[in-house]
Amino acid sequence: MKVLVPVKRVVDYNVKVRVKSDQSGVDIASVKMSMNPFDEIAVEEATRLKEKGVATEVLAVSCGVTQCQETLRTAMAIGADRGILIQTDAELQPLAVAKLLKVVCDKEQPSLVILGKQAIDDDASQVGQMLAALLGWPQATYASKIEVAGDTAKVTREVDGGMEIIDLKLPAIVTTDLRLNEPRYVTLPNIMKAKKKQLDTVTPQDLGVDVAPRLKTLKVSEPAARKAGVKVADVAALVDKLKNEAKVV
Ligand code: AMP
Repeated sequence: MKVLVPVKRVVDYNVKVRVKSDQSGVDIASVKMSMNPFDEIAVEEATRLKEKGVATEVLAVSCGVTQCQETLRTAMAIGADRGILIQTDAELQPLAVAKLLKVVCDKEQPSLVILGKQAIDDDASQVGQMLAALLGWPQATYASKIEVAGDTAKVTREVDGGMEIIDLKLPAIVTTDLRLNEPRYVTLPNIMKAKKKQLDTVTPQDLGVDVAPRLKTLKVSEPAARKAGVKVADVAALVDKLKNEAKVV
């Protein structure tokens, strides 16, 4: 069984991004970039499926600039067997990514695609769902447990007030939630081994996909700065302020 894991290169979660002065977006020049954390969880899960003997091959796919090769190498250091870079300098919106991944799925015929539930840069949470729709495959989003048996996957999802457990007939799409697993620490020997793994590069044109953006960003702005707080002398003063200034009680 082949498992395909799309991995996105995003601004590292520790970086505090700044809005560009022309408000056209955020400044990502010379900031640290890393694999989207939910995708690390997806690669970890696929690797565990391989270690259990359920999966036979883990394929990582990244769409974007040349440097996404580093993201693919990290995926291979965790445990992916090979990588495909769909290289483009174009701005990729979720629908374009889903269309690119659909063509790769048509060619590679994975039984399972595990994506992150969302990319922490655009917070779109759309690619998995769009890919499922384009392929006509069943989907389970926000998985906190995945068990594969035969041609079915049993997926546990955390929902308001409890757990939902659903059976999916493979091939299927699953997106990862934070609690699915804790990705392993990537060791130096595995980083070295990953350098020798197969990494193929194609372009959207090779795949016959038009990636032109469908949405236009009008403006990006910082959240309004919060006013400084004040210290109150006692509870009575606090209640007075809440009643007469904030008028919330
Ligand atoms: P999003 O819908 O943009 O929040 O992304 C959800 C998931 O889709 C991510 O966690 C990745 O698994 C996958 N994905 C999104 N963009 C890309 C990309 N450029 N390359 C590879 N995978 C991607």
